[in-house]
Amino acid sequence: MIDLRSDTLTQPTKKMREAIYNASVGDDVYGEDPSINRLEELAAEMTGKEAALFVTSGTQGNQLAVLSQTAPGDEIIVEAESHIFFYEGGAISALAGVQPRVVQGLKGEMSPAAVKNAIRSDDIHFPDTSLICLENTHNRSGGSIVSLENMSAIYDLAVNAGIPVHIDGARLFNAVVASNHNLKDFTQYCDSVQICLSKGLGSPVGSILAGKKEVIQKARKWRKRLGGGMRQAGFLAASGIISLTEMVNRLAEDHEKASKLADAIEEMNGLTLLNRPDTNIVIVNIEKTLQTNAEFLDKLKKEGVLAVSFGEGQIRFTTHYDVSEKDIEYAISAIQRVI
Ligand SMILES: *Cc1c(COP(=O)(O)O)cnc(C)c1O
Repeated sequence: MIDLRSDTLTQPTKKMREAIYNASVGDDVYGEDPSINRLEELAAEMTGKEAALFVTSGTQGNQLAVLSQTAPGDEIIVEAESHIFFYEGGAISALAGVQPRVVQGLKGEMSPAAVKNAIRSDDIHFPDTSLICLENTHNRSGGSIVSLENMSAIYDLAVNAGIPVHIDGARLFNAVVASNHNLKDFTQYCDSVQICLSKGLGSPVGSILAGKKEVIQKARKWRKRLGGGMRQAGFLAASGIISLTEMVNRLAEDHEKASKLADAIEEMNGLTLLNRPDTNIVIVNIEKTLQTNAEFLDKLKKEGVLAVSFGEGQIRFTTHYDVSEKDIEYAISAIQRVI
């Protein structure tokens, strides 16, 4: 099977498995796991933040960022199709007790004017706006890159309003590699950032949350409250260190594969490309084939290729480490047969 459902499907590399086997570990709830401590120091240094925390997942990292920077009854600004709003089971309301103020973006970018407009003024009727969340790359827009200009403009107005900015950077390194910038060029425009080690970076489990010391301290307590205080989790951190030090630059290969897939799909009758992929995600509208998503995906599966439904008439393909260029060529011919 050529599995293009998600970059979460990557298998840990041989080097990761060796690092996991050989990792020195301790009780991380006691702060005594040397591998976790090393990963957290590395993540803080790479993001240019005071501290970092190893967390179980991207969702947990995002939720800890919300829990640590808001109070119940607050309002947070989120993009209309952002993961935090769309895909986290309503956790911001269920856990942090905050309500979302939704701003519709364009390819994941909220206009600074719309964000400014969404910030509540001081009025006894209003909730307090306590956090602005950005997502980069933006998943539902097909892994699109939120530009540094956009981030900088939103960060400036957030600083002026005294409101922290969180980046859901599940795939921030994809933006870094595709735009030829440094990680810190992006993270300078936020107070906290979450980055997944488990997607294109290949680790089996985990994300990092980085930010100011006091935010990370609060997040550490919230992580414990939520049952995310793990013991000898250095086995996972050992792999995470390889993700951060050895798996970043190769993301460019995933982007090339997505681009190749998009080029071929663009030429196919009946398929409409919804995005020129900036990174590793290709979203395609299949309505003109007159097939339902289920029919299309089922036929594709019989050809040995997996993808996912991404809303009515839309299919998502995601490239990653475990699909080769040859696999992409095969997938292109399979898609052609299906339509
Ligand atoms: C995958 C993803 C997450 C959540 O990560 P999990 O580890 O699956 O919880 C958060 N934000 C974005 C943009 C994602 O793509």
